[in-house]
Amino acid sequence: MKSLDTISKKITLLNDTTLISLSEKNKLAIIKNFAETGIKILEADFGFVWWKFREKEEYKLAYKSKTTPFEPYSPRKGGVNSTAIKTKRPFFDSHIKKENYPQDFHLYVKSHITIPVWYGRNIYGTLILCYKKKRKFASDEVTLATTLGNTMAQTITIYRLAEKERETFALYEKQKATELLLAEEKSKTEFIANTTHEFRTPLSIIRGYTDLALGAHKGNLKQSQNYMKIINEEVIHLSDMISDLVLITTHKNVDISLHSEVLNISQILKHTAERLVNIAKKKNVSIEVNTHAKNLSIKGDKKYIERLFLNLIENAITYSKNNEKGKITIDIAETEKFALISIKDHGVGISKEDIPNIFERFYRSDKSHNSYGKHSGLGLSMVKWITEMHGGKISVESELGLGSTFVVTLPLKKNK
Ligand code: ADP
Repeated sequence: MKSLDTISKKITLLNDTTLISLSEKNKLAIIKNFAETGIKILEADFGFVWWKFREKEEYKLAYKSKTTPFEPYSPRKGGVNSTAIKTKRPFFDSHIKKENYPQDFHLYVKSHITIPVWYGRNIYGTLILCYKKKRKFASDEVTLATTLGNTMAQTITIYRLAEKERETFALYEKQKATELLLAEEKSKTEFIANTTHEFRTPLSIIRGYTDLALGAHKGNLKQSQNYMKIINEEVIHLSDMISDLVLITTHKNVDISLHSEVLNISQILKHTAERLVNIAKKKNVSIEVNTHAKNLSIKGDKKYIERLFLNLIENAITYSKNNEKGKITIDIAETEKFALISIKDHGVGISKEDIPNIFERFYRSDKSHNSYGKHSGLGLSMVKWITEMHGGKISVESELGLGSTFVVTLPLKKNK
């Protein structure tokens, strides 16, 4: 069987040749393989032709036939190929008639075995073992020829399937790469469009009030100062937005571990809540920090961790209901490896459709953003980024009209 494998491997190399005689080297190799099977073939007596049928349509053209190899018929009726294919058996002939053979075949070949090469519905062609002398064929030659034809057809089928598979895979890979590029391109374009849009509002306010301030300057200094205050607020808003953008767009280059220190979570939360007490008061909201897990420590960058909780608590205040007494509860819990910090409000809540999007840059569920102040929609994307950079996760549970709870999970410092 090993020798047949070797032969069929060599044969697949001939795939694209319509009618060829093997080179001397290959001829010798095949003779050697035959010799290994115990059948003696004299070199001088042996020739070898691989007649490859083309695809259906080409076959019709080549044979000027209306039929295909699947309905075997040859205009050269009784020709070696059509007979072998019709019977799906090796065809032996030692009475070569010119009219049944192509070209000058009959001049050189006095007897031959034509082996149909077919597998399932696929008929690939014929393999013709040619002999220069008239000879008889032994029964083991018949067996060998049949096996050879089958092996060759199977090899070609597998080879073709593998080729198809490779092509499909290459196409898939190419499509995937193109899709990725397009998605990246789309996200860039969206980012630029969103950024431009976000900058336009404060800039047009600044322009408007600058004009007013310039006009009011001579007559009314107080009014002009009020305008300047508004301009200043917008400039602060703009510069905050720029620093947020810088942070989240260049985040790949930030190495948090460089600035890592041991941080006491409850201290950070208490401190952050205190910073926001005045803003909360204005909105009639109280903040409660439950610090029963007092000594939980994490490792992280203080500046970023404070920023993370500042954003979450600020949001909890912002989205607490207007004209209603509100309460924000901050809890800390621990599992074996993590600190869990939850920030719960009783505010306007987030709809189910919005929840998957709120961590995206510039996403705001309240598109008009009139009722809850001016917000860029960058806060949560930054919160998510900071959490992930510290090896943590963030999740949210919310119900429209009832409130939201954000839970941040951060790895505890080892060997506390
Ligand atoms: P923004 O600057 O608009 O607050 P964020 O990224 O911080 O941007 O939040 C994105 C959106 O998620 C907000 O516009 C808001 O619609 C929603 N959101 C965030 N936190 C809360 C909350 N605690 N309660 C209700 N909605 C919230």
